[in-house]
Amino acid sequence: MPSGNLFIVTAPSGAGKTSLVRELLQNDNQVKLSVSYTTRATRPGEVDGKDYHFVTEQKFLEMLERGDFLESALVYGNRYGTSQPWIENAMRSGTDILLEIDWQGAAQVRKIFPQATGIFILPPSLEALLARLTGRGQDSEEIIARRLAAAREDIGHVEEFDYVIINDVFETALQDLISVIRAQRLTASRQLSAHADMVAKMK
Ligand code: GDP
Ligand code: ADP
Ligand code: 5GP
Repeated sequence: MPSGNLFIVTAPSGAGKTSLVRELLQNDNQVKLSVSYTTRATRPGEVDGKDYHFVTEQKFLEMLERGDFLESALVYGNRYGTSQPWIENAMRSGTDILLEIDWQGAAQVRKIFPQATGIFILPPSLEALLARLTGRGQDSEEIIARRLAAAREDIGHVEEFDYVIINDVFETALQDLISVIRAQRLTASRQLSAHADMVAKMK
């Protein structure tokens, strides 16, 4: 894998991954977020090209056929996919990349890039998860029930990840996320290749 780090953030719907990632990006301009393609309906306030690239099922399937996705999955009845050309470009530029994708997508990406760092966000309880999905006020009761039912399956994959962050107190979880990303940038192999000349002079 080229010089940047690849981070995968996964969580059951409503655990707070989008809010945490939004705050992280405000704090850290070295990491770029991959904007996924999706066939789901736009929520109030979501912006095409910023939150997602919103496309029809037909357009999505055409893109899939053409090999435009690094990974794709059917999540809660909608299709989601990560742009292959965008990732390729971002990697070439050496920047850190963050993917906000479900566990199925995470497994596909891990096969291609085993060095990727997987981060799973857990809610403090299923009751809290329901309260957040309801409180967000953007999905119908039926959609919320479907997502809550899927949460147990999502959480069943937590052991496939390198780090687990419990999003109980938001600020604590945010600091945890920032810490994981900083730690990953400080591994000996990364530091020694970034500062090879400096270290050589001291040996
Ligand atoms: P939210 O997580 O409740 O805000 O709901 P979203 O509709 O934004 O996302 C639905 C699910 O799709 C989540 O599990 C996301 O992580 C996942 N998802 C989003 N983008 C992608 C993607 O590009 N690829 C894959 N595989 N999953 C994605
Ligand atoms: P996701 O992207 O994982 O579906 P969101 O970031 O949309 O989750 O968060 C779901 C809802 O929960 C939002 O209304 C958000 O403001 C709220 N939320 C996020 N983190 C917390 C937290 N630590 N405590 C209470 N509410 C939270
Ligand atoms: P929402 O529809 O609430 O925005 O997202 C629902 C789920 O879809 C979330 O778990 C989110 O991580 C996942 N998701 C969003 N984009 C992608 C993607 O590109 N690929 C995969 N595999 N999952 C995605």
